[in-house]
Amino acid sequence: MNLLNIIDGEISHILNRAVDGRPPSLDEAELLFGCTGQEFLALILVANHVRKRAVGDIVTYVINRNINFTNVCVNSCRFCAFREDKDSPNQFLLSTDEIENKTREAVKMKATEVCIQGGLHPEANLDLYLQILKSVRRVSPDIHIHAFSPMEIQHAARREGLSTREALKILKEAGLNSMPGTAAEILVDKIRELICPTKISVREWIKIIEEAHNLGIPTSSTMMYGHLESNRDKAVHMDILRNIQKRTKGFTEFVPLSFIHQHTELYKNLSSRPGATGMEDVKVYAISRLMFDGLINNIQVSWVKLGTKFAQFLLNAGANDFGGTLFEENISRIAGSPSGEYLSPESIIALIRDCGRIPVQRTTVYELLG
Ligand code: SF4
Repeated sequence: MNLLNIIDGEISHILNRAVDGRPPSLDEAELLFGCTGQEFLALILVANHVRKRAVGDIVTYVINRNINFTNVCVNSCRFCAFREDKDSPNQFLLSTDEIENKTREAVKMKATEVCIQGGLHPEANLDLYLQILKSVRRVSPDIHIHAFSPMEIQHAARREGLSTREALKILKEAGLNSMPGTAAEILVDKIRELICPTKISVREWIKIIEEAHNLGIPTSSTMMYGHLESNRDKAVHMDILRNIQKRTKGFTEFVPLSFIHQHTELYKNLSSRPGATGMEDVKVYAISRLMFDGLINNIQVSWVKLGTKFAQFLLNAGANDFGGTLFEENISRIAGSPSGEYLSPESIIALIRDCGRIPVQRTTVYELLG
């Protein structure tokens, strides 16, 4: 008996085609987001199959540390509980000495990557971003610097009167290795106007990401969901990402970011959903695996946002990367995430082995280490 015969015919057709290596269209992805019951379970089964065909049973992880260099931000995204005003008693801007010390700690912990992001400080010009890169490089000439979102690139470029492409070029020459594909949130302008009205538009985000890729700066790709967006919006977002990937091949991974709502204006005053449901989280992972088949091989579980038990489940629903050790994760913690700030490599390895999979440490750009 073909197992997919016992479910809804249309869903069965979409999933059978995915098994044959033909990803769902945008409309079909939207339909998959409506799955419950047997169709939901079949979606997980097929996503797990497609994952195994794409990347086998290895689950990767990276030893990294976050450095959030400032929480001062001129923007006021409504989902952000991290930002502070410049005169707030809680504001901070790390000195170059502090960045050097944090890099030293990272090297001591055998980290291969520092992930550096911050708010949009009103006085941050390109020189501040260059000083950050130089501080890291003074400590380590070879640690991978994964830094600065497309929004930060635009902020630095604008203050300097440069194009974003020129700013990216200068930062690359100063040691920037790759960029987080954050600030993507949901790539639908009508949702962005509600959740982050002063952030870059969809068109600007795509432009800066493609400029980075074309300059040889790979990026991750992300999606923040579980607030005001519809299933259609999530499908549109993923479709935009895969079309970029067809053009540039510059995305290293897809990182779904489940909205942490507790301390945010978006939840308190704009009546957003209180984050995604468990069903929705699973569907985002499974559907992204099908949508990105043959284009983006690596789908990362965010254990900081979802917890380690759920992260294990998601490794069976399309994901193949456990993310990083991430000591000092401030942004989710301040928004209300209960998960810790650090997971040791030993803990990650044990969680992966418990799923019957093979843990392998990787670099930021998915070279396997050992
Ligand atoms: S998400 Fe980033 S840009 Fe938006 S308010 Fe927070 S720190 Fe600023």
